[in-house]
Amino acid sequence: MMRADPPASHFVAGRPLEDRAGAPLAVDYPFTGTEIARLHEATPAVIEAAVAAAAAAQRDWAGVRPVERGRILTRAAALIRARGEALARLETLDTGKPIAETRVADWPSGADALEFFGGLAAGLGGETIPLGRDFAYTLREPLGVCVGIGAWNYPSQIACWKAAPALACGNAMVFKPSELTPLGALELAAILSEAGLPAGLFSVVQGGAAVGAALVADDRVAKVSLTGSVATGRRVYAAAAEGMKAATMELGGKSPLIVFADADLDEAVGAAMLGNFYSAGQVCSNGTRVFVAEPVMAAFLERLVARTRALRLGDPLDPATQIGPLVSAGQRAKVLAHIAAARAAGARLVAGGGGGPFAAGHFVEPTVFAGVTDDMALAREEVFGPVMAVMGFAGEEEVVARANALPYGLAAGIFTRDLARAHRVAAAVAAGTVWINSYNLTPVEMPFGGVRLSGLGRENGRAAIEHYSRIKAVHVGMGPLDAPY
Ligand code: NAD
Repeated sequence: MMRADPPASHFVAGRPLEDRAGAPLAVDYPFTGTEIARLHEATPAVIEAAVAAAAAAQRDWAGVRPVERGRILTRAAALIRARGEALARLETLDTGKPIAETRVADWPSGADALEFFGGLAAGLGGETIPLGRDFAYTLREPLGVCVGIGAWNYPSQIACWKAAPALACGNAMVFKPSELTPLGALELAAILSEAGLPAGLFSVVQGGAAVGAALVADDRVAKVSLTGSVATGRRVYAAAAEGMKAATMELGGKSPLIVFADADLDEAVGAAMLGNFYSAGQVCSNGTRVFVAEPVMAAFLERLVARTRALRLGDPLDPATQIGPLVSAGQRAKVLAHIAAARAAGARLVAGGGGGPFAAGHFVEPTVFAGVTDDMALAREEVFGPVMAVMGFAGEEEVVARANALPYGLAAGIFTRDLARAHRVAAAVAAGTVWINSYNLTPVEMPFGGVRLSGLGRENGRAAIEHYSRIKAVHVGMGPLDAPY
């Protein structure tokens, strides 16, 4: 029987930690539905141990030379790369995503973040501000103890994207992975420790909403970074506000991908497939509203349907598999219900629509609906599965207005050969990230995050530093004091 049991449920204060008093947490392999690990949710004692260790360790860590902090992060990245195959396999077992993806996307992207912020650490600082006779300077300080809360679609990448900037800036982090995918973050904690990270600076505690909420409410916590749904984001942001804590919210969306008539159609079809079917559609920034210019609609659909039908569903550990199962039976049921509702609303199913050929596994076929109208639920609600909605449009102004009509703003895509149009539309769409003639690429050098209900704050890029550090201004009077008394 295939097992992937970690040494213990949690990683706290530099080592694996078990507390069997916590509620059992079964981890299933989404391809077979069988249990591969059994963990326990964090008890209040585990949470206390993690936060106390973080608070104690952070005080020393803030005093470590930045170049040394960075060296530990880059060493961790090297360990990740050296163990790439084993980590990819674990990520596939945890999530059900094809190994063809987890080899190139998940941990490698996490390693990129550790390298990027590891390199940046030594270059961070403040500025001096001349004031005539007096002057001021700024100190860039860490925030303190940060809490990271992850979603289940990119569990290890999310853990790295949060840990790397947090630690580079001199913070400690307590990370709570999604209860559906708890394994990768434990590996990250062990790897950071092996790379030389002092105990307590990156702890992992398991559990669901209650454990996350307990962490966010703790007075010793200065910041919370959540990757999750809009509904959860509202709750977590509100809880953080109670304690006036800093917050980064990486939430969901219903992003538009706009294909103009002059686009390279094969490229646009490829982008639409990448932006709807990768990770079985469980990607927050997916371009799930594909707006296609009417003159090229027929050609676009013909190529899209042919290429979609050729996609290979199968065993996620088979390197030839392109589409794996969804993360859970519940998510599959939710996606199939969206498909049924779209059919009932009159959308035209042109590819997929079913649960795939396998008896086990939480599969949904890559699915394309044409003739979707803006009022349908499929055009308004995040599905988080491999379901694409294709809609026609006539003009640029019209499509921008429709793209911006929803309250979300995570991402947008534009396919056109017209340079001026590309940049004009990029400026006009409500989105934190815009891809021109590309889609869903998130290199660590580029900031990533949402506007409107899709969230606030930024991960990646230099921009992330602003969300894991704060500025203290120091005024220096060169005397004599100019007092009015
Ligand atoms: P979710 O909102 O159900 O859960 C996210 C995390 O929050 C989990 O770890 C969960 O245990 C925790 N949580 C839930 N309630 C909480 C509470 N009250 N207090 C503290 N923590 C709480 O999301 P999910 O189903 O795991 O992930 C899918 C969602 O995440 C989608 O909406 C997707 O768009 C979004 N997402 C966004 C990004 C991004 O970067 N913008 C990336 C991936 C996923």
